[in-house]
Amino acid sequence: MDISIVIPVYNEEKNLPELYKRLFRIIKRLKKSCEIIFVDDGSTDESFEILKKTNRRNENVKVIKFSRNFGHHIAISAGLDHSRGNAVVLMDGDLQDPPEEIPKLYEKYKEGYDIVYAVRKTRKDPFLKKAVSKFFHLIFRLLGKIETPPESGIFRIMSRQSVEALQSCRERSRFITALINWTGFSHIGVETRRESRYAGRSKYNLFKSLRLAMDGFMSFSFFPLRIATYIGFFVALISFTMMIYMLIKKLFFGIPILGYVSIIISVLFIGGVQLLIIGIMGEYIGRIYTEVKSRPMYIIKEKLGIK
Ligand code: UDP
Ligand code: MG
Repeated sequence: MDISIVIPVYNEEKNLPELYKRLFRIIKRLKKSCEIIFVDDGSTDESFEILKKTNRRNENVKVIKFSRNFGHHIAISAGLDHSRGNAVVLMDGDLQDPPEEIPKLYEKYKEGYDIVYAVRKTRKDPFLKKAVSKFFHLIFRLLGKIETPPESGIFRIMSRQSVEALQSCRERSRFITALINWTGFSHIGVETRRESRYAGRSKYNLFKSLRLAMDGFMSFSFFPLRIATYIGFFVALISFTMMIYMLIKKLFFGIPILGYVSIIISVLFIGGVQLLIIGIMGEYIGRIYTEVKSRPMYIIKEKLGIK
């Protein structure tokens, strides 16, 4: 098998026929042996029925159906686990990543890079979503956890070797692009078009995007914990200075019985800082808890065309 194309699908019934039609055309033009692996991430609409039909028509279309919704990046991981191609293409199932750009990625890939990712010339997403994504990308880049530019997403082609490296990471809270970056293979960007969703609505609302970003951030960096330590130091320093000041004042100048406001302020301040730091620690402990339970990353209900 030359190329596997992995596509996560969550309630994309209106996009699938068009997606398949366009992919089929491109694959024919590529003249390579290709498989398409659709991962149905617990869709509640007709997506699976459509995929079933497609699989019956074309044996190179393979389908994995999850028992429930496990999430975009986990769906991609399941597709990778079942792919056999020497090169693997990752793309979304809503036609935002145009299939017509696959040959461009493949051409560059043949030059010998392990990973060729698509850089969006145009991005048609809501402003707030773009802002959140840009902001987190910037932080990731500053922390050195990612090297790809903010205009790149999932759409990419990867070598078998880099796929295997990625497969060896089994953590459950996963941010695929940063994980791929972590594996450290050679990569390069290629400018491609990015279209608007063909049909339906984005499955990521602002809250879900934030959660993904937080997951990525927390699983790749101790930075928040370090910040907590710095805040701790800072508050301890203030408290210590305050203590000396109060002692001197008491011993040499005497203190009239006042200080109601200052006591309230310091109690609230220390309480707030403590809660903040406990919260940050809790985020990490929660993630440790999830990983320690070692539950499977996903559960498959049905496989079509895959042993
Ligand atoms: N998706 C998924 N599981 C989810 C959410 C999304 O498999 O829980 C799929 C979705 O069907 C699509 C891709 O991931 O093929 C990207 O999702 P979407 O287009 O909603 O995200 P956006 O492009 O708006 O960031
Ligand atoms: Mg989309």
